[in-house]
Formats: sequence, structure tokens, C-alpha cells
Amino acid sequence: MPDRTPHATSTTERGSFCSARCDCGWRGPARRARSQARTDAERHVADAEAGTAPHGPLE
Ligand SMILES: [Zn+2]
Repeated sequence: MPDRTPHATSTTERGSFCSARCDCGWRGPARRARSQARTDAERHVADAEAGTAPHGPLE
């Protein structure tokens, strides 16, 4: 297994809301701004790489 779990994030829009999601199963909260969802995703990746994020879908 590679050292780092690949965290491929994307954002999905739902109505007027947007949320981030990740291949690892993580999902961010619904945001009204896509930029905010992207920030959630970036934070998730940073946390995951730091080893502080829980693995698996939603804690
Ligand atoms: Zn992830």
C-alpha cells in the first residue's frame, strides 16, 4: 500500500447548495458557496495527510 491514501476530492451541487466529497468516503457539510465547499475539501485533505482525520465515512 502506498504511504498516502489518495484523497481525491470533488464538489457536488445540490439545488443551491454545494458540498465536498472525497473518494475515501468523507463528505463535507452542505455549503451555499462552492468556494466554501472547496475549502472544506482542502482542509480534509490537509487533515488526512497530517493523520488527524478519521478514516472512513463520516465520523
Ligand atoms: Zn479523503
